[in-house]
Amino acid sequence: MRAPVTRHAPVRESTPAELIDQLGIRRVLAFAAHPDDVDFGASATLAALSDHGVEVTLCLLTAGDAGGFDPARSPEETARIRAEEQRAAAEVVGISEVVLLTERDGFVAPTYELIGEVVRQMRRVRPDVVLSSHPERAWDRLQKSHPDHLACGEAVVRAAYPAVENPFAYPELTGQGLEAFKVRHLLLMGAPAERVNLTVDVGGFEQRKLEALDRHFTQHRDAERMRGFVLDQLRTTHASGGYAEAFHHVVVNDEDTISGF
Ligand SMILES: [Zn+2]
Repeated sequence: MRAPVTRHAPVRESTPAELIDQLGIRRVLAFAAHPDDVDFGASATLAALSDHGVEVTLCLLTAGDAGGFDPARSPEETARIRAEEQRAAAEVVGISEVVLLTERDGFVAPTYELIGEVVRQMRRVRPDVVLSSHPERAWDRLQKSHPDHLACGEAVVRAAYPAVENPFAYPELTGQGLEAFKVRHLLLMGAPAERVNLTVDVGGFEQRKLEALDRHFTQHRDAERMRGFVLDQLRTTHASGGYAEAFHHVVVNDEDTISGF
């Protein structure tokens, strides 16, 4: 009897410079539900892109007001501290702008209103690549798939197609000069293993990632263990002993795409 065959998507390995060239990246807009999500999922890649001159904007859906381990701290105080922590981490990574939306931590849902906010940011920044957490649950490590991460991914994917490119969706935005715009590429972090089709070689940026993660002081019960875990993941993701971050790359629009609403 033959062994069952597991079919996974072919995984493309890229250096940051190759990725910039292949996708034509000048601007990246990253969405995350919580402060520290992009630092866990993509900060080494974003640091490398930023060092190559790519402009990176981060849009947080919540201020992470339900995070941390201090029962005496109010949600308002936690939100204030975590927004500060994210700004400090963004500086380490080279993110030039942090936008903070007003969703409540633990309550994120892909509502018409949230998708509208996401569309607003996409039309304002007009990025070449949109980065987000993945909308599908990863059963191999459930912690990648906090319900807010899944909801963030769902809102971003729904916004990327069709709302952002449909001039009749969110007409109030068109009235504000935020014209319909086509997203070309999605890079989704925290993807289920079988969806990963791109790894980015982030050798030389692993320390920047750890430095960015260190800025989220309130979130680490055991910072040393967290660092070990993160480095382990980067090593496991690289095919030959280096450091890499993993993504599900989706081409939303290219020259051959036929669109329809
Ligand atoms: Zn999170």
